[in-house]
Amino acid sequence: MKIAKYSFGIGDRFGHQGKAQLSALIRAKDAGIDVVPVWNKSHREHGIVGTSPSDVRDEADTAVRSLGWKGEYHVDADHINMSNVDGYIEHSDFFTLDVADYIMERAEDRKIQDFIRQNMKYVGELKIPGISEAFTISEEKLVEIANKYLFATEKAAELYRHIAETKGGDDMIPEVSMDEVAMPQTPVELFFILSMLANENLPVQTIAPKFTGRFNKGVDYEGDIAQFEKEFEEDLLVIDFAIKEFGLPENLKLSVHSGSDKFSIYPIMGRLIKKYDKGIHVKTAGTTWLEEIIGLAAAGGDALNLAKKVYRKAFEKQEALCAPYATVIDINPIQLPAPDQVDMWNSEKFADTLRHIPGHAEYNSNFRQLVHVGYKVAADMGEEYYSALVRNAGVIAENVEENIYDRHLKRLFDL
Ligand SMILES: [Zn+2]
Repeated sequence: MKIAKYSFGIGDRFGHQGKAQLSALIRAKDAGIDVVPVWNKSHREHGIVGTSPSDVRDEADTAVRSLGWKGEYHVDADHINMSNVDGYIEHSDFFTLDVADYIMERAEDRKIQDFIRQNMKYVGELKIPGISEAFTISEEKLVEIANKYLFATEKAAELYRHIAETKGGDDMIPEVSMDEVAMPQTPVELFFILSMLANENLPVQTIAPKFTGRFNKGVDYEGDIAQFEKEFEEDLLVIDFAIKEFGLPENLKLSVHSGSDKFSIYPIMGRLIKKYDKGIHVKTAGTTWLEEIIGLAAAGGDALNLAKKVYRKAFEKQEALCAPYATVIDINPIQLPAPDQVDMWNSEKFADTLRHIPGHAEYNSNFRQLVHVGYKVAADMGEEYYSALVRNAGVIAENVEENIYDRHLKRLFDL
């Protein structure tokens, strides 16, 4: 199983919008670009919403069947590890092997020595084709990189072998992720991480490093855009070189755990992958759920009242809701409107405050981020929320499709 050049990770918290999401990719196909849908859901999300891995498989299969999608599609066991992978093996075919927690744990001395020996040939000036400046590599640098990442790559390989034993290595797409950490990996570190993964015989097809800057959930990129561009371009070239140098899968590509809505860097990523004829996987963060709230608000009446109720509860419980997402949100509490004030808003005001239209006078990124992490409130409402999704399915679907196509795919692929 080999993942195609372009793929897009579409989370869907409550599992109701699979068809609307797929419709966006059908529109991209009609516009001339083939993008493979990958339904991703993390263990954390399953726990909060009360769903199981088979639900995501059912959602994907149902959407594909009902819209007659003939292309490739996948179900991603997102950010899994050895403690929770077993429940996903049967239902997923894309596995995000998250080994960020093992960074900085030290591998055995013997293993570190092997790594140094194998990579001694890069000591001196390392030239990566396409990158004008050579990287200076010393033996100390190799030791430092091994101390940081070797153990984590061993853990990734252990997890890969565990899944492959049950599933068969040919029936899965392995991704290795190290993105949920504070410090970005440099292109040089990425090169040696790929050396380690190849040495472990892990046929990685997508790799998710931590890039420079903040990838907060559901809002735009925050950081040094020029630095991101340089790093992203070098990462593309490093991967290209590593494929040849280490015999990694030809289709190996970057996976950007975007957190959704990285509007200011999508065009940069799009231009660079085109320039070097490279693939990409962009994972989004389940902001489809925000489109459900926008759709409910737009529908007015009881549906608008339900959206307001969700906000009020999220506002009251903000500390608890934000805690698991502390590293990937940035909310300024002073900028959050009081629930009593929100209760007076009409449909348009609520939707415009939540919907991410850069530069729109009503858009409030603090409001948006709080609602984004507030999906537990809706999950706790249970039937009250689900039945509203069914009653307002049409208007919600329009918002879901428009969001993925107009705000994400169009910017990324210049459609
Ligand atoms: Zn991630």
